[in-house]
Amino acid sequence: MKILVLNCGSSSLKYQLIDMENEAVLCIGLVERIGIEGSILTQKKDGVEGKYVKEQPMKDHQDAIKLVLEGVLDSTYGGVKDMAEIDAVGHRVVHGGEKFASSVIITEEVEEAMRKCSELAPLHNPANLMGIDAIKAVLPGVPNVGVFDTAFHQTMPASSYLYGLPHRLYTEYGVRRYGFHGTSHKYVSQRAAAMLGKDIADLKIITCHLGNGASIAAVDGGKVVDTSMGLTPLEGLIMGTRCGDIDPAIIPFIMKKENLDADGVDKLMNKESGVYGMTGISSDFRDISTAAAEGNQKAIDALDAYHKRVKKYIGAYAAEMNGVDAIVFTAGLGENGIEDRLAIASNLEVLGVKMDAEANNVRGKETVISAADSKVKVLLIPTNEELMIARDTLELVK
Ligand code: AMP
Repeated sequence: MKILVLNCGSSSLKYQLIDMENEAVLCIGLVERIGIEGSILTQKKDGVEGKYVKEQPMKDHQDAIKLVLEGVLDSTYGGVKDMAEIDAVGHRVVHGGEKFASSVIITEEVEEAMRKCSELAPLHNPANLMGIDAIKAVLPGVPNVGVFDTAFHQTMPASSYLYGLPHRLYTEYGVRRYGFHGTSHKYVSQRAAAMLGKDIADLKIITCHLGNGASIAAVDGGKVVDTSMGLTPLEGLIMGTRCGDIDPAIIPFIMKKENLDADGVDKLMNKESGVYGMTGISSDFRDISTAAAEGNQKAIDALDAYHKRVKKYIGAYAAEMNGVDAIVFTAGLGENGIEDRLAIASNLEVLGVKMDAEANNVRGKETVISAADSKVKVLLIPTNEELMIARDTLELVK
């Protein structure tokens, strides 16, 4: 069975075609600048030199998906000879609200429920819906499956998901903590159990997804009991451009001081904050690390604050689960930030964490990076959200 996995953003689209016989990626691509000047599709195939590039106007996601299908049919860089070989399409959907605790086959009813969740993810869910509509138009009859970023976190107890706000805000508007990156947290926690040769039901795992967006989850016995992102992906850690946890009173304060409306302050917290806002340098941790190494004080402070916030959550989640057996690092910075992992895991000896600096000197490869005598195992596990989406899709359509 061959499954196409789609991750639609407002003006971009990432895709992979996966052969589920052996979980091999047949081709992988990215469409950028959908609906704006300079639309471009780039696709690669493992083991084949060069890349497949299509630069032509794409007015919407349907145009983009038509070109994606041409790409996957390409005799050199594609993965199928005939469109009929695509058995199903798995879609990453950002917000499933409380309605979806697991992946589902997309029906009219599901689309309607997704539309209702759009208010909670106005930048993402409409783009995901556009992708689904485009596939329905171009590949009629092929089953579509929705895999929600929020689903894995739906096991959180009320004590984790309720805010200290009037309860009616929850019942009337759904104001609660949902959590995101669920597909990644699920994948790496399951891989961690496999790497340790243990049943996930017997493990307390803290998964640190540290990418441009970043979140942490406490996974007890395979179920999320708490996670750092909230109603939206703004809460929790300091991120590339997002502020994470702040005193909420700062919001009305800066709105008055800087004469900002709700959209203005939302933009400030989502796009102009994080390590980018703290340093004025970049949202990319590589640039921040370079500046810090050159002695830039703002970059040094931003990195210290970033590491400390991650450490605080690890400590909090270890307390919440009454212990921790494994800590997992994943996503861009988690997989590549050698110094960052060391900085985060330092001073965690109190929990029983002892790093192995030599083992930690690695990027993007499944590795145990704690010392042999570390009570808590620390693992580097590259995430693979696309494979997880494909597995869920296979499960539902087979
Ligand atoms: P992601 O959102 O998972 O793609 O992660 C992207 C982020 O990972 C980038 O913004 C970088 O800050 C970070 N990153 C990627 N490669 C490295 C690296 N070699 N060293 C440090 N950070 C990295």
